[in-house]
Amino acid sequence: MIRVLFATSEVYPLVKTGGLADVSASLPEALCKLGYDVHILLPGYPAAVKAARDAGSRRKTRFRIGQYEVSLWQTRLPGTAVTLWLVDCPPLFDRPGNPYQNENGQDWWDNAHRFELFGRVGAMMAVGEAGVNWRPDLVHCNDWQTGLIPVFLEHYSHRPGTVFTIHNLAYQGIFSHETFRALGLPDSLWRWDQLEFYGQLSFIKGGLVFSDRITTVSPEYAREIQSTEFGHGLDGVLRHRAHRLTGILNGIDTRVWNPEEDPELAFHYGRDHLKNKTQCQAQLQQELGLEVNGGPLLGFIGRLVEQKGVDWLIAVMPELLDRGCQFVVLGSGEARYEEPLKQIARQWPRQMSLTLGYDEGLSHRITAGCDIFLMPSRFEPCGLNQMYSLRYGTIPVVHAVGGLSDTVNDPLEAGIGKANGFRFIKADEQALLATINRALENFRNRKSWRRLQENGMAADYSWKQRARSYGNLYQSILKERD
Ligand code: ADP
Repeated sequence: MIRVLFATSEVYPLVKTGGLADVSASLPEALCKLGYDVHILLPGYPAAVKAARDAGSRRKTRFRIGQYEVSLWQTRLPGTAVTLWLVDCPPLFDRPGNPYQNENGQDWWDNAHRFELFGRVGAMMAVGEAGVNWRPDLVHCNDWQTGLIPVFLEHYSHRPGTVFTIHNLAYQGIFSHETFRALGLPDSLWRWDQLEFYGQLSFIKGGLVFSDRITTVSPEYAREIQSTEFGHGLDGVLRHRAHRLTGILNGIDTRVWNPEEDPELAFHYGRDHLKNKTQCQAQLQQELGLEVNGGPLLGFIGRLVEQKGVDWLIAVMPELLDRGCQFVVLGSGEARYEEPLKQIARQWPRQMSLTLGYDEGLSHRITAGCDIFLMPSRFEPCGLNQMYSLRYGTIPVVHAVGGLSDTVNDPLEAGIGKANGFRFIKADEQALLATINRALENFRNRKSWRRLQENGMAADYSWKQRARSYGNLYQSILKERD
């Protein structure tokens, strides 16, 4: 049985700021079902330690790293049989706010120290020096917060294999040279082909340079990040390691996202009994104070940041509202996007609903209740919402980038027999508007709309197949290292 330590800075349902949390819960569970012994390693955030205490779990070991006393809790990821290890170090992780920022949305001043310590503990566990009687064959690292683990492991002759997965290359863990010195990292790492990045320290480079294999969350994103346009300055490193880089599409949790029995919905439906989707829409309209009128209702859920193309969305909304469309937007983020959205919601109160904040339940009702789901992202490593939408018979309109490009087929390119949504290529608001217009034309043709819905709902977005791809990758790393 292959043992894998899956190191991550978020995991659903304990702590989540984005798609990484979903993947960190679903992928280890799917791998365990395939017979891999996967243990998750997570910082001991307050919610996670509380859940461990409530479950009657205990500390397994205690040790010191520099000035910090660290202990490891062994527990289970709630609702699963997956083992979860928590790196408990209250001065670094027992804090309000989210894993990376305080309650005012500012990065914690000592993030480098927090995730350096997390990385050290990961490396100690990986080589059997953490005082627990479980030792992995492989460490699977995720995003910059775990980027130093492969760096620390480099010094051990009998280290386990390493995989580093890029969930979003835009977040790199960049810190000053002073921080590099303060962390006490060896000077030999301060080189352009190691951790140095344009005069600064880059955590993610540790993962990209030192791990045996790199993966990212869709095949298209794996290609894109090797270009200057999408490479965020790291395309050179990635081209250099292209032979070690693969894209494996994310899956979704098909139990949590299932319109046939979603507990967040008052009405349930499926591919061959779609009628209740209309009821879901009416109920959503009522809940949000919109006119109950049969749509078209267009939805958006996500972080209100530049990546998500919110500015393009804002630009096309007034014209579509004037033509009678309705919008529902759920998310939070930058004031420069929140403010104009608030204004639009005030101007069209019966047609536009804006919910600022995070609401899991509402996100399910929006996914079920909308006719069209919008994802005009400038770039999108994988994207999960388009897959949730496809499964719920809600037609995605997306910018053809990254995982959106890999999952959404447009009738113009694929023919109606294989199409499940609409996509635009050019990166601007006119292209978005033209594509929404095409979707709306189709919406009026019940038969072709139904076909798109059925095509989307028939596909398999589960983790099973994708977890097999990770399993194959693990095996090939171990074989190479034999
Ligand atoms: P990213 O990781 O870039 O934020 P993804 O599409 O990969 O984007 O994953 C985002 C996840 O977070 C999805 O599960 C999405 O439904 C969820 N999500 C984002 N914002 C909200 C919100 N305001 N309320 C509820 N769920 C949200």
